[in-house]
Amino acid sequence: MFNKKMYDLGNVSSEIRELFEYGKKQKAILGEDKVFDFSIGNPSTPAPKEANEELISLLKTKDSVSLHSYTSSSGDLEVRNKIAENLNERFNANAFGELIYMTQGAASSISITMKALVNEGDEVIVFSPFFPEYRVFIENAGGKLVAVQPDFKTFYPNFEDLERKISSKTKAVIINSPNNPTGVVYEESIIVKLSDFLRKKQEEYGHEIYLCSDEPYRELIYNDKQYPFVTRYYDNSIVFYSFSKSISLPGERIGYILVSSTCKDASELYKAIKGAGRSLGYVCASSLFQFASPKFVNLLTDINIYKENRDLLYNSLTELGYTCVKGEGAFYLFVKSLENDARAFKEVAKRFNLLLVPSDSFGVTGYCRVAYCVKKETILNSLEAFKELKKYYEELKDE
Ligand code: PLP
Repeated sequence: MFNKKMYDLGNVSSEIRELFEYGKKQKAILGEDKVFDFSIGNPSTPAPKEANEELISLLKTKDSVSLHSYTSSSGDLEVRNKIAENLNERFNANAFGELIYMTQGAASSISITMKALVNEGDEVIVFSPFFPEYRVFIENAGGKLVAVQPDFKTFYPNFEDLERKISSKTKAVIINSPNNPTGVVYEESIIVKLSDFLRKKQEEYGHEIYLCSDEPYRELIYNDKQYPFVTRYYDNSIVFYSFSKSISLPGERIGYILVSSTCKDASELYKAIKGAGRSLGYVCASSLFQFASPKFVNLLTDINIYKENRDLLYNSLTELGYTCVKGEGAFYLFVKSLENDARAFKEVAKRFNLLLVPSDSFGVTGYCRVAYCVKKETILNSLEAFKELKKYYEELKDE
């Protein structure tokens, strides 16, 4: 008999993946341009040409044996030192290469860190709406996901609900800004407030509570603000970073975990992270992509394309009468569904060839996520379908 939990995970794909697969089939039947696929967060901008040039240069110039060899399990130390240097220059992060662990992207960073932190029965707080895979990684580590409701005006954390949900079993809190699925970027005041709150709770419970900042969208912000670097605000903090979105390399699987040097017993915690990576069979991150990472840290995809898409979609949908959260980052628009049941709404939208992800698996009801990392034409061509969808619900009301 297989492991039941693993079987269940593999037997049903995530709602996002399910819709994405449905979209591929529908495109084969109806044609690419007839299906408006807003399901998945696959970047639609090309990786910067310097990223490809660096990879080519490494392949041409670096000794082929060492280029493709296993690196140390935490990653090549020179690479990690260069990443730390860059973080210190940009954010005054007090980062050290010895406390950076190279990973296969943010997903494995979260999975490894949960495995490293959580003992059976520990709780991990996440803020709704949250990236659905958090549940998989927390539960795989033997923990329990505890979801805190948002303030529905701002989609910032609701601190009253946080006060209700935190307990002596809380081991870690995961934040994600710029946020998937709302696009909301946390202000500095939120990080300050959360840090003060967690420090008080650490004292009250007499143990560490880790603040984990999941930030694959860090650079995708469409105003002149910067998302604060958490290690400067809270000692027991850990950062998950990835090059998947900032330079459009999601399929290449490269990122890292940064353990703040201010964490209590940071080097012991780092050993637990190494152990977790080992237990999960990660061995080491792709060596070619590790060696290119010191170059990657200075690159960024053309985020004006996403900003234009965000503005076009937000303005058009608002004009059509939809209620949308105007996030300042990532590449998602969070839109109120036109009936309370967002899953039923998704099914109706499919009839108009609009693929929208219902918010239920993100931990809130009544919304859908529209991933606008698509070609501008897809948005322009979809507007008639959004109009028809709205009309459909208006006619239902009139009946
Ligand atoms: N965290 C969030 C909030 C995400 O949206 C994603 C991917 O969409 C990930 C983590 C995983 O990203 P990666 O490709 O770096 O594993």
